[in-house]
Amino acid sequence: MELAQRITGIKPSVTLAISALAKAMQQDGKDICSFSAGEPDFATPQHITAAAKQALDRGKTKYGAAAGEPQLREAIANKLQRDNGLDYRAANILVTNGGKHSLYNLMVTLIDPGDEVIIPAPFWLSYPEMVKLVDGIPVIVNTDSSTDYKITPEALNAAITPKTKLFILNSPSNPSGVVYTRAELAALAKVIVDRDIMVVSDEIYEKIIYDGVEQVSIGALGADIFERTIVSNGFAKAYSMTGWRVGYLAAPLAVIQAASALQGHSTSNVCTFAQYGAIAALEGSQECVETMRQAFAQRRQVVLDRLCDVPGLSCAKPDGAFYVFVNISSTNINSLDFCQQLLEQQLVATIPGQPFGADDHIRISYATDLVTIEKGLDRLVAFVRAHI
Ligand code: GLU
Repeated sequence: MELAQRITGIKPSVTLAISALAKAMQQDGKDICSFSAGEPDFATPQHITAAAKQALDRGKTKYGAAAGEPQLREAIANKLQRDNGLDYRAANILVTNGGKHSLYNLMVTLIDPGDEVIIPAPFWLSYPEMVKLVDGIPVIVNTDSSTDYKITPEALNAAITPKTKLFILNSPSNPSGVVYTRAELAALAKVIVDRDIMVVSDEIYEKIIYDGVEQVSIGALGADIFERTIVSNGFAKAYSMTGWRVGYLAAPLAVIQAASALQGHSTSNVCTFAQYGAIAALEGSQECVETMRQAFAQRRQVVLDRLCDVPGLSCAKPDGAFYVFVNISSTNINSLDFCQQLLEQQLVATIPGQPFGADDHIRISYATDLVTIEKGLDRLVAFVRAHI
């Protein structure tokens, strides 16, 4: 059978594939330590599940408005005002099937064939594939430890051509964990405004930050940048709601109206009762978010303390998210082989840096319990010692 060209160039998601493999190996009785998916190991907080159960009992089981339940759109707009200083109304919000879906909807809405989309590397591996799915051109700008894995305003400016439509910003970043400062964002915003391009700010890890760093939304830095900004976010990481599939896009009206029309012909509304859980997440106590953040902070310290003395490995201290992006170049093994051998020989699942645009790195997700972290790191260290 001949498949459409647009799909034949698309690679399967390595994060999902390795996570599924690790789970399958565990089910087969293997003692796997999985540092693969970026998926918090906590249960969804009880007041959120209770709200969804109540919604089921109240008959919230029917089709809803394609753009989302009005009460949830309102709650998201209020959250963006309150937490991020972004002046959105409910009409500027589209509720989507997770953050991934919000970004994909945006690509379909904004990108014409041949439009260029600037993506700093290392990047979350789904960004370039989404751009390719709509016949856009991903323009990868490499970064390294010399700029803390951040794109500089000079590099952004140099990558812009008359075909550039969009820049993808992800802070805190998956996989590097870097968080851009207010001053760095202001400098990037100036380039975006001067060169008249759009930016999508993927803020899915906004609540998972450490050591008192400040999380700033680029769109809050002035009216000119606000009108060129689209925000993508969701409930998965902050509220441990990965399987619920509730995310959102916040954008100028024209973008939301067009993306809502798209959603009306593709997925329709997000699962109605799941949206009531999301309302409870935003309107209830935020203590659960802080409790999980503190647990991540403790785990991050354990991972960093353990890895920093290992000859052959190096890693920058991440300010956010729940990943450590480890440089493995001294082992002289590429990241795909490294991760495969580590899984086969030591039963430790990690994600290769190659699909993130950095083949000399691996990604360790510490969104797992401390016992697994300690055991898995012992095995990782044994593996590295045997290979350098
Ligand atoms: N975003 C998470 C990760 O990078 C979940 C898996 C995925 O959707 O890629 O691990």
